[in-house]
Amino acid sequence: MIKKTLAEIEKMAFGKKLDSKYKDLIIEGVSIDTRTIQSGNLYIPIVGETFNGHEFVETAIDNGASAVLWGMNESNPPKGIPVIYVEDTLVALQNLAKNYRDELSIKVVGITGSNGKTTTKDMVTAVLSTVFRVHKTEGNLNNHIGLPLTILRLNEDTEVAVLEMGMSAFGEIEFLTKLARPDIAIITNIGESHMQDLGSRDGIAKAKLEIVDGLAQSGILIYDGDEPLLLDKVKKLNISSLTFGSTGKNDLFPTDVKLESNGTYFSINKNNGEEFYIPVLGKHNVNNATAAIAVGLHFNLSWNEIKAGLKNSKITNMRLELIEGKNGLKLINDAYNASPTSMKAAISLIQDLKGFNRKIVILADMLELGENEIKYHEEMGHLLDPTKIDYVFTFGKLGEYISKRAVERFPTGRVKAYLNKEELIAELGKVVNKDDVVLLKGSRGMKLEEVVAAFKK
Ligand code: ATP
Ligand code: MG
Repeated sequence: MIKKTLAEIEKMAFGKKLDSKYKDLIIEGVSIDTRTIQSGNLYIPIVGETFNGHEFVETAIDNGASAVLWGMNESNPPKGIPVIYVEDTLVALQNLAKNYRDELSIKVVGITGSNGKTTTKDMVTAVLSTVFRVHKTEGNLNNHIGLPLTILRLNEDTEVAVLEMGMSAFGEIEFLTKLARPDIAIITNIGESHMQDLGSRDGIAKAKLEIVDGLAQSGILIYDGDEPLLLDKVKKLNISSLTFGSTGKNDLFPTDVKLESNGTYFSINKNNGEEFYIPVLGKHNVNNATAAIAVGLHFNLSWNEIKAGLKNSKITNMRLELIEGKNGLKLINDAYNASPTSMKAAISLIQDLKGFNRKIVILADMLELGENEIKYHEEMGHLLDPTKIDYVFTFGKLGEYISKRAVERFPTGRVKAYLNKEELIAELGKVVNKDDVVLLKGSRGMKLEEVVAAFKK
């Protein structure tokens, strides 16, 4: 993490009025949260919609902070502690991160896309960690606050930073990429999330492509070549690029994909049929792994290094996580979030999955989809195949549109819609048996993990 004197911090954050008696004091790391602050940190108070971090400056110091930033317009600045004054604390955090990134000699991999950013980030990190000192975005810290915080956690001797970049509107990726200046930019795919703000899939593609605005001169864009909206636009850019995807027209694509219940096996078009293994389920994760392989090859790693890295991928929780349930039941927890693309991927995964007694899906609302939300939910209902799935439970008002379409094709009593989670849990309890598998998928706000908790071993 960043380790600097306060005089240096003042300069890098474009701050002022540091009492000169503190100029040689060293801070190590920054924090915006007094609950997790570490001894020696610089506390940066952020002003949110419902809170003002400046109110917690004393707590920050009590909990170990060595110094604080202070917004010029805030009243009652603290006395008797090291303070650096700035125009705006959020902008100061971003400036500090930008200046820190600029002085580090690291390679940066920046990852955006509608789905699969976190998973791809975890896989890229696993692959590169076989050879380099790698630091990745923790959890999902992918926005205008999380990305600067991640950069400030890099060590002087970090060799590669793997950074997730999220967005919900135009201009956001441009901001993040100009800050992070990636050497390798990845676009995992284009889905339908944030349609509300971006208008169309074409708008989404444009917004993701902003990532090249910060790409190094000698950098490369690695992207989903099965997406025509990207192909057309990238052709017009004067940058080097490489495509990955599931079809043979891509530079890199998987072959012989085997979806097993303990993970996924596949080969790649460019090697000699050697088999790769990833400890996660689902075809779409093979795509994410293919992107990670592309990065490994770009860094001149050997096939063996790439293979060993992928095998040890540590994927952030709640993404198609296979969990042991009560009484021999298996749960596939994908309750972290949902968009049409990722719900489609999850449905296709469970439909293809072998080795279970009965297959049950629990699908909750996909939120923030804009005016076509009903159509997207109905589409999911159409995808459910009664020859491959035994029961469909939906949860939520929009979920009802999934059941509406499914009920038309499933045997009587096999599709049920719920607005009350307790009722759903009670009914599921009556239905499930040993060796059944239950997939749970829905938007974050639907909190399907409460259902997971009820059936977890
Ligand atoms: P967020 O925007 O919430 O940060 P993310 O882009 O980081 O999401 P992940 O957390 O990796 O994505 O995965 C989220 C969901 O998307 C999971 O439910 C997963 O099943 C699905 N998913 C992952 N990769 C893909 C992919 N390549 N194509 C379609 N769906 C995917
Ligand atoms: Mg993510």
